[in-house]
Amino acid sequence: MLTPESDGFRTLLIHMRDAHPVERNNPFILEAIRPKKVVFIVNPNSGTRMQAKIKDNIERYLNHRKFEYGIWYTERPGHATELARKAVADGFEIVVAVGGDGSINEVAAGLLNTNVALGIVPAGSGNGLAMHLGYGRKIEDAIKKLNSAECKLMDCGALNGRPFVNVAGIGFDGLVSNLMQNQTKRGFIPYFIRSIKAGLEYISKPCELLINGESIHENCFVVTVANGSMYGYNVSIAPDARMDDGLFSVVVLKEAPRWQYFMAMPSVMTGKIFNENFVRHYSTNELIIKSKGDNYIHFDGEGSMHNGDLHFTMLPKSLKILVPREAIYSVSATS
Ligand SMILES: [Mg+2]
Repeated sequence: MLTPESDGFRTLLIHMRDAHPVERNNPFILEAIRPKKVVFIVNPNSGTRMQAKIKDNIERYLNHRKFEYGIWYTERPGHATELARKAVADGFEIVVAVGGDGSINEVAAGLLNTNVALGIVPAGSGNGLAMHLGYGRKIEDAIKKLNSAECKLMDCGALNGRPFVNVAGIGFDGLVSNLMQNQTKRGFIPYFIRSIKAGLEYISKPCELLINGESIHENCFVVTVANGSMYGYNVSIAPDARMDDGLFSVVVLKEAPRWQYFMAMPSVMTGKIFNENFVRHYSTNELIIKSKGDNYIHFDGEGSMHNGDLHFTMLPKSLKILVPREAIYSVSATS
């Protein structure tokens, strides 16, 4: 299909420029065929360390006629946000986050409400957002997909003013994220082991959810506020989530015998979590969760503790995102 982002369209314009002397200085054509300025922001410590190969992969798979690129490495937590802001100030048009959902979170925070688009090369452990958007989990495939990706606007969320791109929440998943914090070994096995540990340890807590004008009291094992559908590893916590509808998918796992949570894993992995009888599901653009004492929470898989209300607000269409063409009909889930 011939679209402004497609190679065919670009080739056509180059042909027009070369074939017709009068078109040689056509500003529209010159702008359309000019290589875009892209910077890859790499967290050298994230995930499975596959990103060490990033430069080789970019050299090999990025379309160098369409993009001129730089690579910046982060040196400390929060640095990716500073680098993303610098990229905006320096006139880059695309910033690619190389890492997991935590790295994407930091980069996105520097790009909100700007004209600079976010691309993703998954190099984390779970890669929930990359999977949702159709980038897959392989570095080389993601770079190839960037070559023809289409720019869309996506929603982000904020929890007590701090943005998140994929999922944030309280409870069991917050405990898993806290257990993963400061782990040098990432990847599926450590994540799986800590999920089992958290699943055996976490005790459901009374929560009040203020949602759509209602007050709901529930003993909650998890409350996940989802913009994207997946935690990562194909764990589909909110299979109905779309990233451009201005709404969160709020998924509550109520208190239940622990064996029921473990027995529900197949339905979670196959996008059928809403069939479980201990699951409640809501759609809203704003939510307040009240739960006494210290609570385990997470932003895009980065764990922390919080004491006090949790106020989730929607930041509709606040982030430009490059979406692989194979999945352009689904800024919502790809499955
Ligand atoms: Mg949504």
